Amino acid sequence: MPRPLSATIHLDSMRHNLARARSCAPTAKIWGVVKANAYGHGLERGARGFADADGLALIETENAVRLRELGWTRPLLLLEGIFDVADIALLHEYGINSAVHCIEQVKMLEYTKLAGPVDVHLKMNTGMNRLGFVPSEYAAAHARLRAIPGIRHITLMTHFANADELEHPRLGIREQVRRFQLGAQGLAGERSLSNSGGVLRQAELAEQLSNDWVRPGIMLYGATPGDKTAEQYKLRPTMTLASAIIGIQQLAAGDTVGYGSRFEASGPMTVGVVACGYADGYPRHAPHGTPVLVDGVRTALIGRVSMDMMTVDLTPIANARVGSKVVLWGDGLPIDEVAHAAGTIGYELMCALAPRVQVLEG
Ligand code: PLP
Repeated sequence: MPRPLSATIHLDSMRHNLARARSCAPTAKIWGVVKANAYGHGLERGARGFADADGLALIETENAVRLRELGWTRPLLLLEGIFDVADIALLHEYGINSAVHCIEQVKMLEYTKLAGPVDVHLKMNTGMNRLGFVPSEYAAAHARLRAIPGIRHITLMTHFANADELEHPRLGIREQVRRFQLGAQGLAGERSLSNSGGVLRQAELAEQLSNDWVRPGIMLYGATPGDKTAEQYKLRPTMTLASAIIGIQQLAAGDTVGYGSRFEASGPMTVGVVACGYADGYPRHAPHGTPVLVDGVRTALIGRVSMDMMTVDLTPIANARVGSKVVLWGDGLPIDEVAHAAGTIGYELMCALAPRVQVLEG
């Protein structure tokens, strides 16, 4: 028998969240973002869960090819573009749209005789200072791309730095949109700006921002990029990490639990041992008090998370026993809440799901 630990992927919730993205940005086409193994959900499940998306966007060239082999026929976008001149052949062979974010990529396209039409997303750096041409150099990069025989559509693109914050003391969405519009002035082409943060705030941005394409990721997986909860945005969890109690200990005042003896009981209490540890992707740094559900009742992590196990307080759970179901995140326990308690983000928890965890669908 395998360990009682599994991650269940809820394809219906993926479809629901995609529909939510559509209702937030009803006039835009949607790139469903499936990089990083569809945020830990599995590439192929991403393609099925987001079968109604207008296209899929990702980072890994080999996975774009795999999506074609799996039968995905709509557009594909490489969010970081190509990493080597050898990848250019794949762009026309498999009909893959590529981001172009630096002059080296422009040169690779200039030096290669394109054997077929290639569509690109030209990325502008509007303040995030990761990838892209600064606004003052954007039009020149656009002109160079336009001059390359074989380059067909050039979509104008940028990426937001601060989740769903329209105003931010350093760099809000509104300011990035303003910079984008300056840099893209007079340039023809479709526009793609919003990640989940922008999509979720689209209604308030409508006057300033119209997207031809949006690129939601995290919201499609039922988590949020900012402080509001998934429930407030009517998003549903798409991954439930669940396990079971595999051992129970009764403690007296002064007894300690686990490596480092970090937790000390202040009185009699019952401790449950859960089959899930950091080798499964549960964050080792999650502190005492991080929420878990046992038999549907909320309780707390205690002690240090170890490689294969963690310990929880069973005192508030009547009738808890070996075999009681434990939800680490997902159905009934938002992943964002667990992430927040552990000082991280839902994105990281999903992506860190370890290969040894059995994945189910349901
Ligand atoms: N667009 C680009 C260029 C990205 O890099 C990402 C993810 O980081 C996304 C869209 C999706 O972002 P989110 O998951 O916050 O919606």
